[in-house]
Amino acid sequence: MDRRETAALLAYIGRLDPRTIRTDQGEARDQLAQWHELLGDVPMATPHGWDARVTARQHIRTSPYQILPADVARPWESYRRDRLARHSDPTPSVDPDDQAAWTAELASARRAVASGLAQPAQARAITSGRGGIDSKLEARLREIGSCIPPAARAALAPYRPARAAREAAVAQGQPDPLGVRCGWCLAQPGEPCRRRRIGPDDGVRGTAPRAIPHPGRLDLAAVQQAQQVQQPAMV
Ligand SMILES: [Zn+2]
Repeated sequence: MDRRETAALLAYIGRLDPRTIRTDQGEARDQLAQWHELLGDVPMATPHGWDARVTARQHIRTSPYQILPADVARPWESYRRDRLARHSDPTPSVDPDDQAAWTAELASARRAVASGLAQPAQARAITSGRGGIDSKLEARLREIGSCIPPAARAALAPYRPARAAREAAVAQGQPDPLGVRCGWCLAQPGEPCRRRRIGPDDGVRGTAPRAIPHPGRLDLAAVQQAQQVQQPAMV
């Protein structure tokens, strides 16, 4: 709060607790200087629940001791701490490779939360899907089609062979076997084919994903792709 706001706060406090009023002009000036020095970085009020007057009033209501600047500064510090503890950094909307801009956006979001100008962002806000994702970030995701950058996806390919084979097929305009249901192992669209694992007693011991779809599924995908290509011509 600036000097004028500090003076207003002191006037308000004086009305609630006349002991704090300084009648001597020099003393009043010193009191204002002291409060201003100690509360200069504490806002008078924020849009999200902080009000120095409410804090002062609460102290005068519940404490027999005369209010000190610390009785306003301490609640402000805990208000700040509490908000930062509840804040989980949202994903910045800038290019992740631009380290400086990325850090700057995170820091400015934290500053806004700490100073009470913005509400803390909860982790679930990221996944809620209702205005949780920054619109600029959403545009970026649409552009690259995945939250995994292309380079990282390429590096991951050896560890998810079915998915990599599918992406390669789609990129080359070949039929996408994972786009259809497998008639052999009944894998649903999007799921890799699975092979049965047989135990020593011939009992089925579960299934494991196959890197290569069953041949029937490839055929089915080819038929379906041919139909999709023909359809626009027939209309
Ligand atoms: Zn299959």
